[in-house]
Amino acid sequence: MFDLQDQVAIVTGGAAGIGRGIVSSLREAGATVVIADLNLEAAQKTAEELGADAMLADVTSRDSIRALYRDVVKRYGRIDIVCSNAGVFPNCPLEDMTDEQWDAMFAINTHGTFTVVQEALPYMKKAGYGRIVITTSITGSHTGYPGWAHYGASKAAQQGFMRSAALEVARDGITINGVLPGNILTEGLEDQGQDYLDQMSRSVPMHRLGSPRDIGNAAAFLASREAGYITGQTLIIDGGQILPESPEAILPPYEA
Ligand code: NAP
Repeated sequence: MFDLQDQVAIVTGGAAGIGRGIVSSLREAGATVVIADLNLEAAQKTAEELGADAMLADVTSRDSIRALYRDVVKRYGRIDIVCSNAGVFPNCPLEDMTDEQWDAMFAINTHGTFTVVQEALPYMKKAGYGRIVITTSITGSHTGYPGWAHYGASKAAQQGFMRSAALEVARDGITINGVLPGNILTEGLEDQGQDYLDQMSRSVPMHRLGSPRDIGNAAAFLASREAGYITGQTLIIDGGQILPESPEAILPPYEA
């Protein structure tokens, strides 16, 4: 679809789930891809399967991200695309939520994105080119769900960060955009339990959960040269989940 043959991309949290879908789409478009993940063993396995490279990285550590970028540039000479995807979504009722749980959520999802984006800028500014894609969510900016007050806040914050950051680098050939997944069948989502998955399938007008490649394809578009006039924008990929004004607006599936 898009030719990313000469492009070097980094995907945080690319070992599994949506990150894996992004790696897969970028590889299919020809990019050299480095999976940067906390789980090195899983990252190496995914890298082997998809023809990517794997490096250990923790988005909550600035030193780790600095070392990652240094290593990528040493090995491949450049960084064209950064997908800030690593994130967590443990569920916790507001009344039970501790300061530690709130802070841990923000440390990975929000502060992690700040670090991953900020540390990439010197490389991209020097090249006069860059594509940054943040995996955020419909949760927070468009929807809410019991137990995800901290998660929704962390994801809405990513989008606020993105809009101002995009303005600051607009003159430098760097774009920053967000993909907003609905409910995508990943290891992380499966942890929410079967009842949650069934409930979500019923809430999607397309009557199915999304796949990691549904997000990967959107991310690959925003990471392409062809998307160069799009910045500070969000793309919702949710099978129509946020559209219905009432449950009755979701038409039943066709009889087989
Ligand atoms: P996932 O299946 O749990 O995969 C996340 C990956 O990120 C794992 O490999 C994980 O490693 C890694 N990771 C976690 N903390 C990290 C850190 N500090 N540094 C580097 N890597 C780290 O999650 P997912 O469902 O694919 O979600 C990925 C992103 O999509 C998240 O930002 C999430 O908020 C967003 N999202 C997901 C959905 C959905 O329906 N799945 C919907 C909306 C938004 P470990 O295995 O070691 O934890």
